[in-house]
Amino acid sequence: MLATTVACPVCARKVSWSPASTHRPFCSERCKLIDLGAWASDTYRVASESAENLGEEQQQQTTPPSLLQ
Ligand SMILES: [Zn+2]
Repeated sequence: MLATTVACPVCARKVSWSPASTHRPFCSERCKLIDLGAWASDTYRVASESAENLGEEQQQQTTPPSLLQ
């Protein structure tokens, strides 16, 4: 079966161009937000609020490692 794939604009990972790939052309919500944040950090913040399932990941990323040690 031939599947159309595209390269994620952020990390270049191959993404199947299908309804299952909800974030296409990005490979994931994360890459999608990274791309948005690349040109407008304010937009990134707004997008993060609407991305409920990104909450946990977002917190982990924003916690400075130095505070955990
Ligand atoms: Zn990606």
